[in-house]
Amino acid sequence: MTSRLHHVAERTCVGCGERDRQSVLVRFALAEGGEVVASGRHRAGRGAYVHMRSDCIAGLARSRRLERSLRTRVERGARERFAERLEPELMATGNGR
Ligand SMILES: [Zn+2]
Repeated sequence: MTSRLHHVAERTCVGCGERDRQSVLVRFALAEGGEVVASGRHRAGRGAYVHMRSDCIAGLARSRRLERSLRTRVERGARERFAERLEPELMATGNGR
């Protein structure tokens, strides 16, 4: 039994910089070779989070926040490729607001 009142883990979106429930954010990480990949919940290593919103995904590609979050350099091209891969998923989930 738990007495905690609806504790929800919050993470910061690297697209807009706002904190939100982890459940509405997509986790991703830097893979070998410098590519950015969606990483799921169980993958080890430093991850970052982004809203499934086109504004946030676009922000991810532009922003330095991602590099601060992952504490490493992320090539701009890798950020943009990741954003491009996320867009179709965004459309598929119908959350593109
Ligand atoms: Zn966001």
